[in-house]
Amino acid sequence: MKALERLQVHNIKPSMQRIAIMDYLLENYTHPAVDEIYTALFPKIPTLSKTTVYNTLKLFEEHDAIKMLTIDDKNTCFDIDTSPHAHFFCKKCNKIEDFNLMKPEQLKGLDQSNHLVTEVHLYYKGVCQECLRSEE
Ligand SMILES: [Zn+2]
Ligand SMILES: [Zn+2]
Repeated sequence: MKALERLQVHNIKPSMQRIAIMDYLLENYTHPAVDEIYTALFPKIPTLSKTTVYNTLKLFEEHDAIKMLTIDDKNTCFDIDTSPHAHFFCKKCNKIEDFNLMKPEQLKGLDQSNHLVTEVHLYYKGVCQECLRSEE
């Protein structure tokens, strides 16, 4: 899906900056943080500020266009993939990877309280395969 389409599907008024930020998220499935997006887009959009990037991401999140991850306590990261999945955070290289999560029908069994579960945030932390290899 193109950035403009994605904004329209989620009822977000498109602007040049919003399209650029959405575009970046669609092209970088790396769960980028505000700083990373800002640094990448600033050369192309000199009027961009970190506050604008953050506010835009908040807006996207409020419209369910992206997910916000607080897996890294120093950085809030953003995920274009809004389907339920778990995350792995490497404490050595700070990389965030997608992990499979149980299917929604399996999740129903997790709810012991008759509450309606609409979101699950599952974070794994440790050392990734590449970092383990480079230690050897
Ligand atoms: Zn690593
Ligand atoms: Zn993810």
